[in-house]
Parts: sequence; structure tokens; C-alpha cells
Amino acid sequence: MNYKKALSHPIFKIISDSGKELQLESFVIGGFVRDYILNRGDAKDIDVVAIGDGIKLAKQVAKNLPTFPKVQIFKTYGTAMLRYDDIEIEFVGARKESYTEDSRNPAVENGSLEDDQNRRDFTINALALNLNEKSFGELLDPFNGIEDLNNKIIRTPLNPDITYSDDPLRMLRAIRFATQLNFIIEEASLKSITKNSHRIKIISKERVVTEINKILESNTPSIGFLLLEKTGLLEYILPELIALKGIDEVEGQRHKDNFYHTLEVVDNISKHTTDLWLRWAALLHDIGKAPTKKFNKKIGWTFHAHEFEGSKMVYRLFKRLKMPLNDKMKFVQKMVLMSSRPIVLAQDLVTDSAVRRLVFDAGNHVEDLMTLCEADITTKNPRKFKKYHNNFKIVRDKIIEVEERDHVRNFQPPISGEEIMKTFNLKPSREIGLIKEYIKEAILEGDIPNEHEAAYQLMIEKGKKLGLSISTK
Ligand code: ATP
Repeated sequence: MNYKKALSHPIFKIISDSGKELQLESFVIGGFVRDYILNRGDAKDIDVVAIGDGIKLAKQVAKNLPTFPKVQIFKTYGTAMLRYDDIEIEFVGARKESYTEDSRNPAVENGSLEDDQNRRDFTINALALNLNEKSFGELLDPFNGIEDLNNKIIRTPLNPDITYSDDPLRMLRAIRFATQLNFIIEEASLKSITKNSHRIKIISKERVVTEINKILESNTPSIGFLLLEKTGLLEYILPELIALKGIDEVEGQRHKDNFYHTLEVVDNISKHTTDLWLRWAALLHDIGKAPTKKFNKKIGWTFHAHEFEGSKMVYRLFKRLKMPLNDKMKFVQKMVLMSSRPIVLAQDLVTDSAVRRLVFDAGNHVEDLMTLCEADITTKNPRKFKKYHNNFKIVRDKIIEVEERDHVRNFQPPISGEEIMKTFNLKPSREIGLIKEYIKEAILEGDIPNEHEAAYQLMIEKGKKLGLSISTK
């Protein structure tokens, strides 16, 4: 079959001509070909293999492009990259690789196209399209990658034990592709990943997190997390999730399996948000349940303060995985800490004051919190399911209503500390905090509106109770 159509963008003709000028052959390989055949939309990354000097080819292509783009050269890897028309094109000379036990950086020598296809991770990633004039668009598929694409199978070109042991990152890539594409990992691969799972330790945390993020960003992240669990990889990467596995039973009382529950929540939330950090929050929302689990004869299983414990664990987990300890981490912590608030609220009569407090505490993240809590409803009891969702609908409506009226989101006190000091002729002191807190509480309870006049009256009242006298100055 000919795939000329895949190469209709003018860049391919330019690469082809540039190769001809240098008398070297070139091929498009990997993700671009795979995604074209899968119809996954226009690719923004193109990988080109040259049989010879890839950097030289990149420079020639740049020369022949109307925009004369800058060529970025990565000497250590022998690769070069340039941008054209929103597309990133990476050039590499065909290579043969051999690995040592303790590193994923192989010894490299020049090779043929076939050598280069051999070093690819999966048959579906080893597909190449010929860019040479005579055979332009011809597919080179030595490992039946097309068949695997059609059958939705992830398979390694070589013996999987060698492929995964050489570069353990490929274990995560296999699971990530299976999740993104909804493919099955072939049995021998799965066995080999399980056998080699401990080798994930030699992979940098940053690379591991990149793959986990891609799994989390997929339509159904649970596919990936189930595979990570099944192969033993999850134990090395996120042991906090493994600790949620299992159901304990004491005196006939059981709790739910919080691992599978968590995965259900992550899949649920993925239908409603593409925000990676909100998805992380869903993944971690129950991690505090493992260390706080207790059995109590009267009330059964409890997970007292698991949200607080969980939010502390988020920090340690992010630190261990070298993830950013910035506002994203704080956001995940906040979501975990507050993850039970709307549920408690929705189980009962939804009052204005409870909603006001929720908005006050969650601030701008209140909608995200609601999305998380709606995803957290995994009850199989249809009556309860309906009731919780209905109540959350009421909470969402009330949030809008309360917002319009009371403006408690990003709350600014209607009376400043300075005004309190002036009114009672006070120096900075405890009383100021007491009065401010009293006013804030009254607003959240709905005793007074969030307005200066009403708050002023309350300040005077509270000041008097505290034995303060009004300044005459
Ligand atoms: P995506 O862009 O979704 O990550 P991709 O397949 O383009 O998919 P890249 O990481 O850009 O992924 O890799 C490009 C190509 O390089 C792959 O298709 C594959 O052929 C090869 N490749 C990448 N990483 C590895 C690896 N660790 N081992 C072997 N081959 C790899």
C-alpha cells in the first residue's frame, strides 16, 4: 500500500529533495505514521530517519525552507530539530544500539533503516514511510505493525525481555499507549513487564511522571492504572494507591475497596474535565484512608481525618516524584482536604449558610471541588445515586445564588482592622481579631448581609461586649 496522501504537506517533498541533494535516503518513522493510520488528527511531531548524517539533513532542509528556520542540534544524541509551520521535525541518523545492565543510555553506532526499526519500542511505532523520490510514500513495516494496529495490539519488535530490560521506560510507554489507544498489551509483553517491573527504579522520576500524566490525560485512565497494578509497577511508583487495595471484614462489617473506587472516580471525572491537576486530585483524594483506617465496634469502619492526612501525603508524594511543589500541588492538597465537604452537605438538607462556608473555604476552586465530589459518587444504589446528584444540583444552584447575594468567594472583610482600631482607639491587639472573626461568622451564618453598614453595627455591638469604648477623636 502507498501512503503518499499522508505526505501531502509540502515539508515532506522538501525533506525528500534535500536528501537527494546530499545523496542520502530518508524516512518518516514512528508516531506520525502510527497516528496517520489511526486517524488521530494532524500530527505536530514528525520524526525523520536519515541513512547517514541526520544533522546534515536537518541543515539542508532548513536551507531549502522559505522561512530558514533555526536548527537546534543535540550533539549527545546526534539529533537535530527544526520548526516549520507549527510542526516540530526531528532528524536522526539511522542507528544500531546496544545496552548495558545499569543504564537506559545505549552505546550507539551508525546503522541501516532496519537496525533503526529494530531499536523502536513497539511494532506500531516502527512503521516507516519512504521519502525517497522513487518510492515516495511506500510503507516499510518489517514487524507487521499494521496488523497490530488493526488488531489493537502492543507488541515489541524483538524479544520483549530484551526490549524492556534494555530500557525500562518502555514498560510505562506500553501501558501509556494501551491506555491512550485502548489497545491490548500482548501476553508475552505483559509477562515480561511483570518480570522486569523492578527495573523501573533506574528511570528518572521526571520521565515516570510524564508517562503517568499521559495516562491520567487519557479518556479512561483506569485502563493504565489497572495495568500498572497488575504488572507490579504501581507498587514502585505510587504505593499509596496499592495501600488502598482490599476489603477488610470484622464482625461481618466490610468497607469498600478504595483502590477500585478511586479508579472509578478518576474515570468519572475524566468525562467532565481535562484538567490534569483535578484528575490528580481524583487519583489521590482517598490516599489518607489507608493510614487512618480503624475498626470501631459501635460504628464499624472509620477513616477519621483521612482528608487531612491525605493532603499531607500529597506533599510527600509530589516531593518523592520530583513533581512541582507549587500552586498545582497546593491545589491538589486543597481538593483532597476538602473532598468530603460537599458530600456531607449533600447528604442532608442543603442550607444557605453551609453553602456560604463552602464557597468561603474553597474560593475560586469551588466548582472544581463540586466536579470532584460528583465524580466521587460511585454508589451502586440507584436511589442514593439520584439523591446525591440531585442534592449536588441544589448545591450548585445555591452557590450561584449565594455568590450573587453575598460575595463570599475570595472574601474581603467589609470592616478592616484599621477601621476597628480607629473606632475604638486601639493599638494592634487580640480584640481586633475577635471582632473581625465575629463579623465574618455572622456573614457566613447569614445573620447579617455582607455589607459595611450592617457589619459596622455589629462591630459596635461586639466592641461594647468586649468592654471597649468608642473613640471620640
Ligand atoms: P507521542 O507523541 O504520543 O508520545 P510518539 O510515538 O511520537 O508518541 P515519541 O516519544 O515522540 O512518541 O517517540 C517517537 C518515536 O521514537 C516512537 O514512535 C518510537 O518509534 C521511538 N521511541 C521513543 N521512545 C522510545 C523508547 N524508549 N524506546 C524505543 N523507541 C522509542
